[in-house]
Amino acid sequence: MRINENILISSLTTMRLGGPAKYVIEIETPEDIPNAYNFAHQNNLSTFVLGYGANSIGHDEGYNGVIIINRMRGITDITQTNNDNILSSKKATAPKETSFYIKIMGGEYWDNVVTYACERGLTGIEALSKIPGLTGAAPVQNIGAYGQEIADTLIEIEVFDSTTNTFKTLTKSDLQFSYRKSLLNTTEKGRYFVISVTLKLSLGTMPRPFYNSIEKYIAEHHCTDFSPQGIRNIVSKIRTDKLPDPLTTPSAGSFFKNIYLTNEEADLAEGKGYPVHRGRDGNKINSGWLIEQAGFKGALLHGIRINDKATLVLINESAKSYADLAAARSEIVNKVYDKFGYWLEQEPEEIK
Ligand SMILES: Cc1cc2nc3c(=O)[nH]c(=O)nc-3n(C[C@H](O)[C@H](O)[C@H](O)COP(=O)(O)OP(=O)(O)OC[C@H]3O[C@@H](n4cnc5c(N)ncnc54)[C@H](O)[C@@H]3O)c2cc1C
Repeated sequence: MRINENILISSLTTMRLGGPAKYVIEIETPEDIPNAYNFAHQNNLSTFVLGYGANSIGHDEGYNGVIIINRMRGITDITQTNNDNILSSKKATAPKETSFYIKIMGGEYWDNVVTYACERGLTGIEALSKIPGLTGAAPVQNIGAYGQEIADTLIEIEVFDSTTNTFKTLTKSDLQFSYRKSLLNTTEKGRYFVISVTLKLSLGTMPRPFYNSIEKYIAEHHCTDFSPQGIRNIVSKIRTDKLPDPLTTPSAGSFFKNIYLTNEEADLAEGKGYPVHRGRDGNKINSGWLIEQAGFKGALLHGIRINDKATLVLINESAKSYADLAAARSEIVNKVYDKFGYWLEQEPEEIK
């Protein structure tokens, strides 16, 4: 395990804000994990598990504790077949497997997993293409995009339980997934270190109709390839067109969650003329629409730019501090509340 001291959180997060973390420990083997927690315990310091930092925000005063990062990588097909792997199932003599179990170490970059699946014709995560981050973070907020969520394909995760100092397996039902939520960022926040994630993926294609923006793109560009790789190409193009690349443009992606409504609330909202999407995942108002209607599209507040193509995304254009971000956030949240009566909820986690 590698122990580093006084590392700027701005260098570990895509929003590029935040002062120094006292220690950053990089986990390279499972045995490192209890050692890292012991190190924090012996020094009387708290811990924060970080991945790629695409959904985490640092504070100006930094973090007087130990940031732990999973650096264990690798993708393995653990499907139990006579022939053992996906490629062999393509041979004429091989059993016709249609579902495959893929175990991914938490330090693997998420988009490599999507690439791996699409190259093998496996459906289940192709719409989650190009979401920045490490695999260990993916179940934490149940990453989702264009009609898929990791909850749809996740079977189990291996974790280290920092409360009992034991290694455990948590199944999908243990994780209590919902929109941008799981046990890991709600009732048991901070307790588990995700070591690996196992997904069940299948040969085939996503069911139609696809998510609205995918269907729109297909109609406009006359696309005909709906294989996992074809959908990955479409999603990648849609995303590149409207979302900032975290390597060149600091942001944490969607800064606010969409607003989910009960049927009664949805009827009320429609009565007021607000656009409510009634989908498989419930009734929602796109918070980006609320922000746009509140007049913030493309605005620059305290160095924070409200993206004009995806208004949910806040870009750190020239903010000097967390305080700038907090000031911009307050202006947006308060104006949206005054105009529509909905409180916007922040999506990224705060490192504190
Ligand atoms: C441009 C852009 C676009 C985005 N688009 C999407 C999108 O379409 N859909 C979507 O859902 N999200 C999106 N996001 C948000 C982000 O990509 C995801 O939340 C992603 O899963 C974050 O991964 P990370 O490794 O960067 O997590 P981090 O920011 O490092 O961590 C996020 C949370 O997970 C916890 N965590 C991280 N690793 C572990 C671990 N090994 N064990 C336990 N806890 C852990 C952290 O403590 C923190 O609470 C986007 C972000 C950006 C910048």
